[in-house]
Amino acid sequence: MAENYPREAGLQPAKGCFINNRWEPSASGRSLPVVAPAEGVIFAEIAAGNASDIDRAVTAARAAFETGTWGRLTATERGRLLMRLAQLVLDNAEELAAIEARDCGKPIRAARADIQATARYFEFYGGAADKFHGEQIPFMNGYYVTGEREPLGVTGHVIPWNYPAQMTGRTLGPALAMGNATVLKPAEDACLTVLRIAELAAEAGFPEGSVNVVPGLGHEAGAALAEHRGIDFISFTGSPQVGTLIQTAAAKNHIGCVLELGGKSPQILFEDADLDAAVPVVVAAIVQNAGQTCSAGARVLVQRSIWEKAIARIAERFNALRAGLPNDDPDLGPIISAKQKERVEGFIARAKEQGVPVIAEGGLHPKAPAGGFYVPPVIFGPVPRDNALAFDEVFGPVLAAIPFEDEADALALANSTDYGLVAGVWTRDTSRAIRMARRLRVGQVYVNAYGAGGGIELPFGGVKKSGHGREKGMEALYEFSALKTIVIKHD
Ligand code: NAP
Ligand code: MG
Repeated sequence: MAENYPREAGLQPAKGCFINNRWEPSASGRSLPVVAPAEGVIFAEIAAGNASDIDRAVTAARAAFETGTWGRLTATERGRLLMRLAQLVLDNAEELAAIEARDCGKPIRAARADIQATARYFEFYGGAADKFHGEQIPFMNGYYVTGEREPLGVTGHVIPWNYPAQMTGRTLGPALAMGNATVLKPAEDACLTVLRIAELAAEAGFPEGSVNVVPGLGHEAGAALAEHRGIDFISFTGSPQVGTLIQTAAAKNHIGCVLELGGKSPQILFEDADLDAAVPVVVAAIVQNAGQTCSAGARVLVQRSIWEKAIARIAERFNALRAGLPNDDPDLGPIISAKQKERVEGFIARAKEQGVPVIAEGGLHPKAPAGGFYVPPVIFGPVPRDNALAFDEVFGPVLAAIPFEDEADALALANSTDYGLVAGVWTRDTSRAIRMARRLRVGQVYVNAYGAGGGIELPFGGVKKSGHGREKGMEALYEFSALKTIVIKHD
C-alpha cells in the first residue's frame, strides 16, 4: 500500500477538487498519498474525490454550458482562451516539467518535451476553434439546409497516469474548442500537473464551470463520472478492462464515448530497411516512458534474412540502457507504481521460466535509489508466436523480437494480436510500404519513422481492442461535437 512509503517532510497538502474555478475540499474528507516512483517516497497528497464531488462538478459544468458565460462565448473567444492557456503552460513550463518528472518518475528532458506538447495541444485547438464549421446541403427547391457543428454539452474525461499533462491537453483541447463544459478525472498515480493546469485555465480566463477536475480513485470518482446521467459524452484512455466498464456505463446512458485502450504495436523491419535509421527509433519506441506508452513499439518483427544483423545492433543499444532518477539523465525512469512494476516483472519472469531467450538486458543507473520502482529494459527473442509476450500488452520496457519470412507473413504476424493501434514499417521499397500501410489493421502507420513529433496534428486511435474513435488532429473536433441539420422552408 502506498501509505507505507516514507513521507517527505513538509508535504504539500491536498488541494481538493477544482470546481467552478475554486479548490473545494472533497466531500469524503480523505486524501490519497502521491508517491514519487523514482524514489519510493510520498511527496504530496491529493483529495480522494467521490461521487458527491463528481456530482458537484457535473452540475457546475452543466450550468456553465446552459446558462453561464461559457455557453455564450464565440468560437474565436474560446480559441483565444485556449491560446492564453497554451502561453501560461509555456510560461510555467519548468515548474510543470519538474512536477511531471517527479510524479511520473520520467527523465526531466522527457517531462520538458511533454509540457511543450501539452502547450501545443492547447495552441493547436485554440487555432482550430473558429476554423471548424458546418456545411450547406443542396436539397429540394424552396428549402435552405445547413448542417451545424455544435458542442455535445458536458463531456467527461478519464485519463491515465503515463502522460498526465499531455493527456489533459489532448482531451480537453478539442472538447473546449468546440464549447463543451468539461469534467476531468485524472489518475490517482500521477495527476499533479493536471491540477496545476486547471489553475492555469482559470488564470487564462476560462469561465467558471468550464474546466473542472476531480482527482480520486478510479472505482469511486472515475466510475461516478462515467455513470453520471448529467454527462453527454465520455473520453477514456487506459486499460481495456476499464474501457469495457466505461463503454457499458455510456451505453446505459445512451451517450457516445471515445476509447483509447493501448496496443501491442509492431515495428516491421524488412531486409531492405535502413538499419542506421531504424535501430535507434525501434529502441526509443519501447524505452520511451519506460514502455508505459499506449503506442509503445512493443514488438520488433524482423525479416529472417537480416535477423542476426538487426538483432545484434538492437542488443548493443539495450545492453547500454540505464534506468535512473529524472535528473541524472537516465535513458528511462521507473515504472509508475509498485503494483505496475510487479505486473511487468511477472511478464519477464514467466517468459524466462518458459525458456524464451533473453537477447539483451539493460541495467540501473548507479545512483538509482533502492526504493524506486525500476525495471531494467529487456529484449526477448525469438519469441514464440504463441507466447504471451507476442500478443499481451506488458506496459513496461520489454521488447519482443519475432522473425518473419516474407511480406505476407509480416502482415499476418503484425495483425495477429487483439490490438490495433500503431505500426512502423521499415523498407526502401515504396510499393511495399504502401501495400503494408493499407493492409495493417491499426489506426496509424509510420513508414521509416515512428511516433514522429508527438503527433498533435495527427488523428490517433485504434481498432479492435485498442478502442474506437479518434483524438488528436482536426478529427477530435468531430468526436467532441454533433452535427445538427437545420431545414428552412422559404418562398
Ligand atoms: P486503468 O485502471 O485503466 O486506469 C486509467 C484511468 O481509469 C485512471 O484514471 C483510473 O483511475 C481510471 N479508472 C480505474 N477504474 C475505473 C472505473 N471502474 N471507472 C472509471 N474509471 C476508472 O489503468 P491502470 O490500472 O492504471 O493500468 C493497468 C493497465 O492498463 C496497464 O498495464 C496498461 O496495460 C493499461 N494502460 C493503458 C494506458 C494507455 O495509454 N492506453 C494507460 C494506462 C494504462 P485510478 O488510476 O485513479 O484508479
Ligand atoms: Mg506518482
